[in-house]
Amino acid sequence: MKLNKNKNRFFDLNVLQWTVPSFLAVTAFIFELVEHGVEDGLHFDVAFTGETIIFGLMGPLIVGFIIAWMRQLFIAEKEAMTEVYILNRELEAKVTERTASLEQRNIELNKANHELQKLDEMKSEFVSLVSHELRAPLTSLNGGLEIALQSAENLPPAARRTLETMMDESARLTQFVQTILDVSRLEAGRLTFNLGPVAISPIIHRAVEVILGTRRDIKWNLPSEIPPVWADEIHYEQIVRNLLRNADKYSPAEKPIEIKVQVSNGNVRIEVADHGAGIAPEMHEKIFERFQRGQSSESAPPGWGLGLYFAKKLTEAQSGILSLRSPIWPEINAPGSAFTITMPIAADSPEEMYNA
Ligand code: ADP
Repeated sequence: MKLNKNKNRFFDLNVLQWTVPSFLAVTAFIFELVEHGVEDGLHFDVAFTGETIIFGLMGPLIVGFIIAWMRQLFIAEKEAMTEVYILNRELEAKVTERTASLEQRNIELNKANHELQKLDEMKSEFVSLVSHELRAPLTSLNGGLEIALQSAENLPPAARRTLETMMDESARLTQFVQTILDVSRLEAGRLTFNLGPVAISPIIHRAVEVILGTRRDIKWNLPSEIPPVWADEIHYEQIVRNLLRNADKYSPAEKPIEIKVQVSNGNVRIEVADHGAGIAPEMHEKIFERFQRGQSSESAPPGWGLGLYFAKKLTEAQSGILSLRSPIWPEINAPGSAFTITMPIAADSPEEMYNA
């Protein structure tokens, strides 16, 4: 539409460029003829010739040049408009083409995503099934070994040691299977959380008793009053146990493990600190990932790199935060690590009294 309008304007100017100056020239010439002829007969004198040249030739020529100049401007505008129009069409075509290809890619990605999710579900189901099937025979094996060990005083020392090693390995395997089961349940969203007010100190003491017994020196730093947190008691203790197990595993047996509880800003923080070799800054995030281990050498303590991954997931599922600081001590050979569980205080619950 716009282009057609310009075409007309261009055509009009083309006509005007010649008709207006011609009309002016003829009119001026006739006017001069009449003016000079009426007075005293027509003489081609200086006045007649001069006025005819000025009004009949130069004037129309100037008007003609101005119209020609305007015409050029319109031609330039028309060319620019045509160019913009073509570019617009090309752009629209490209956008349509890209949108179509993006839609196609989107469909393919959704399909791939769906397939991956299905594969992941199948993997979780498989792991869960295998772990489940392994748990029952392992429980029988553990029970049998325990009974055998109870009446093993009469056995030769070598046989007794073998039984003890079998017992340790079987316990390790049981714990591995249990962790795998828990992780696959958590990932499949099948782990249930019974949230409610949870008293802190009994949980810490129980976890210490189960994981460390009296083997390790513990430095306690607990306030006399700790409000309960809003959590799932079993899973919360599981996190504390994981941290204690790691502190035990990754720090020298003769060094103490420090347990500190702080209450601030509506949260209760449990910190488990050790005097071990610490964790390099570049590993601070990685060790919370699935199957990530700090050391992979032969001499590294046994493990599967699932403990912290599981602990973090459990903490977050209860609206808590699991964080790490390392180094925490000035000793170069034993900079240590401190893991902190931060959980919200259970609202409107009476303060728990703890007598250290
Ligand atoms: P695992 O102990 O089975 O390897 P975790 O997920 O519990 O798995 O820990 C991941 C890694 O984090 C460990 O391999 C270890 O390198 C590092 N780590 C965890 N806790 C400590 C700690 N208290 N001191 C030093 N390193 C630790």
